[in-house]
Amino acid sequence: MENQQSTIDNRQSTISVVIPVFNEAANLSELLVRCLKTCNRMDRVFEIILVDDGSTDGSRDMIEAASNQYPGVIIGILLNRNYGQHSAIMAGFAQTKGDIIVTLDADLQNPPEEIIKLVQKAEEGFDVVGSVRVPRRDTLFRRVASQMVNKVVQMSTGITMHDYGCMLRAYRRHIVSAMMQCRERSTFIPVLANSFARYTAEIEVQHAERSAGDSKYSLWNLINLQFDLLTSMTTFPLRLLNVLGGIISAFGVGFGLFLLLMRLIYGPAWAASGVFTLFAILFIFIGAQFLAMGLLGEYIGRIYSDVRARPRYFVERIVGESQWDAGDPPRPESGACPNTDPPKP
Ligand code: UDP
Ligand code: MG
Repeated sequence: MENQQSTIDNRQSTISVVIPVFNEAANLSELLVRCLKTCNRMDRVFEIILVDDGSTDGSRDMIEAASNQYPGVIIGILLNRNYGQHSAIMAGFAQTKGDIIVTLDADLQNPPEEIIKLVQKAEEGFDVVGSVRVPRRDTLFRRVASQMVNKVVQMSTGITMHDYGCMLRAYRRHIVSAMMQCRERSTFIPVLANSFARYTAEIEVQHAERSAGDSKYSLWNLINLQFDLLTSMTTFPLRLLNVLGGIISAFGVGFGLFLLLMRLIYGPAWAASGVFTLFAILFIFIGAQFLAMGLLGEYIGRIYSDVRARPRYFVERIVGESQWDAGDPPRPESGACPNTDPPKP
């Protein structure tokens, strides 16, 4: 699905590839070989930013070694502990210098060769280029859950992107700059990016089974991620609570009146036999209350974590140096919201 595109046609943009890494030692060597090969084929200045998200399996040392081996091309960002995929990508974004920023997973589920297609699409003038995994090589549970979530997001945002879970994506510089200015801690990057994007496109990409190791997402982490997605996108559920509360109260009043009426017409015998119905209603109410409290809790939890204003991540050390640090023209630091930053003619 493509929104109307702008007329930007800068065929020689610089590329930053951001890859979050959490215990991916078994995949890193192949990943780097394939990424370097692909980026070299593009004939553009590029940098590969590997963010170590608190790995404990040697990934960290491998990243450090790679950044020494390819100075100016591979940059390692070593976070002091595990912050989660999206925070790690944000840490990578802060380091990027390219005109087009591509994100992908380190486990080779997203073939690095697809970067070329994404860059080409972004160079056509799209602010955000999403991707749809076909065919998707994940468990049935993950596929079904993902489909449901994507449908809800589509309905809530009105933006018809089909695969929010796929992190093989390209963003133009101003989108990343805008995202960097968001101080929230519970972030879902594709949704956040879309909120700043004027021109979006979606392309189909290959999807492979995880090359080595296990998914870093437990069921609990996945649920948490879905709540991140929901709360980063909309506060509509809060309003829904009011609607739900109103309907339930109205139903309660109506039912009370009905009982009273029946009691008056048919006498006390009838009312007594309604005791179990009342029990059933009571349980519905209690259930609804708990549901509402749970939802409120989700928001309050996030508000709490934002109000604490802890840093989203803590960069312990940055290894490797960008080849663009000296010489090339400086890039504007503050990104503008796309609404105030019309596409170049
Ligand atoms: N990842 C990360 N921090 C985490 C979890 C995951 O940086 O806390 C990285 C992981 O190394 C991989 C990407 O995020 O590069 C996607 O993770 P994974 O493949 O486990 O997710 P799945 O494909 O199962 O959704
Ligand atoms: Mg994966």
